Amino acid sequence: MTKLYPGATGDWEAVIGLEIHAQVISEAKLFSSSATTFGAEPNTQVSFVCSAQPGMLPVINEECVRQAVRTGLAMGCEINLRSIFDRKNYFYADLPQGYQISQFKDPIVGEGEIAIELSDGSTKIIGVERLHLEQDAGKSMHDQHPTMTYVDLNRSGVALMEIVSKPDMSTPEEAAEYFKKIRSLVRYARTCDGNMDQGSMRADVNVSVRRPGEELGTRTETKNVNSIRYVMQVVESEIRRQIDLIEDGGTVDQETRLFEVATGTTRTMRSKEEAHDYRYFPDPDLLPLEFSQEFVDELAAEMPELADAKKERFIADLHITPYNASVLVAEKENADYFETLLAVTVDKTGKPVSELGKLVSNWITSDLFGALKKLGKTISENPVSVENAAELLNLQVEGTISGRIAKEVFENMLESGKSPETIVDEKGLKQVSDTGAIEAMIDEILSVNADKVEEYRGGKDKLYGFFVGQVMKQTGGKANPQVVNQLLKPKLDG
Ligand code: ADP
Ligand code: MG
Repeated sequence: MTKLYPGATGDWEAVIGLEIHAQVISEAKLFSSSATTFGAEPNTQVSFVCSAQPGMLPVINEECVRQAVRTGLAMGCEINLRSIFDRKNYFYADLPQGYQISQFKDPIVGEGEIAIELSDGSTKIIGVERLHLEQDAGKSMHDQHPTMTYVDLNRSGVALMEIVSKPDMSTPEEAAEYFKKIRSLVRYARTCDGNMDQGSMRADVNVSVRRPGEELGTRTETKNVNSIRYVMQVVESEIRRQIDLIEDGGTVDQETRLFEVATGTTRTMRSKEEAHDYRYFPDPDLLPLEFSQEFVDELAAEMPELADAKKERFIADLHITPYNASVLVAEKENADYFETLLAVTVDKTGKPVSELGKLVSNWITSDLFGALKKLGKTISENPVSVENAAELLNLQVEGTISGRIAKEVFENMLESGKSPETIVDEKGLKQVSDTGAIEAMIDEILSVNADKVEEYRGGKDKLYGFFVGQVMKQTGGKANPQVVNQLLKPKLDG
């Protein structure tokens, strides 16, 4: 069901399409051998090709082609064995060529479908129109001099993949989930690092509104939105603005808009009248890009395992709950951390992965993620080493400490940075499994609470927890729960 937005004169629905720019992971640029390292001194990664010196010719970087094909494969899209590079002509100070080399009518990757999961548990299919390769532009720097603008050409000619969706989304949530899914796919495929704060991934957000069942309305396009939260804000504010505008008797102009972080809304950048006519034409310096099906098949065979396949495997082989599996695979770093920790825990405990998957995944998704959230840190800033985390789990598997004590030890690890063994020794937290000692304690508790024993035997089953609680209280939570159960049950029932 498409969400309806109520207006004073009736309901509306929204239509959203995203054009995502993803910077290709590659040592060199799309048509030159200049480096692509982020944050380098301005103009230190600029060749004669990137600065458009007369007579220079572009030479396609095969790795960028492979990356685009890998991305297409990860998205399940059609791969085009023949594609064309076109010149998109416009003048801008940070574009020395006077045109951008892009792909217009014949892109390297064609249609596909992306499944997104929504918070109500439903799945929606979003169409992908195409993916094409193009050059990035340089950067104008307006803050270096009071009256002059400087230009940094380091980014000029860096390879971008533009991934164009069909206008299949209809809510801010769908746009956000689609963006997240594409980001996750390119990160798993290792074709784009997805670092939005470094500009490696940004979206142009197209939004229109219409009465349910009507033709598509006029859209606006908000440029260069570089966070998932901002994408949601753009969609939300554009839907509201367009509905109010039309209901007040106005019409939506097809225009390019800019997002303003301070207000969370958009404003006009240029209207259609000022829009460019790019005069696309095939770049005469470049032959059509052609490769064989074998080239594609080889890349397909070498693809790393992607999120959906990983999730299936986690559930089937490691007996992890579907929910935990989804949480772990959503971000590649989390899945990587889980697999590393699981392997080290297997080494330490000598138990098979199938027995440890659940324990390790539960610990990561509840204890570790909970702690990281409180600390405001991400998994890559995790203060606890894999070695120490595995040891903590090992102590639990061995029965040296209970699950409850493990939580206490973990808190302490976060504060002190000490190893779990050290903490257990120093604080005397070893689990008590000595049956003699526990039995004596149980006898004592039963005799002191003779009245409650009577009630229990009279049918008040709930009191069982009370007796367990007493044993735990006396041992400071260190009694081995299994041993307690084994001894307590027969005594109470007998
Ligand atoms: P252009 O290349 O001129 O920006 P496209 O037709 O390629 O135009 O569309 C760009 C993006 O806009 C695509 O993601 C598409 O899904 C989306 N789009 C097209 N029409 C609409 C519309 N009426 N409302 C919302 N999004 C739209
Ligand atoms: Mg566009």
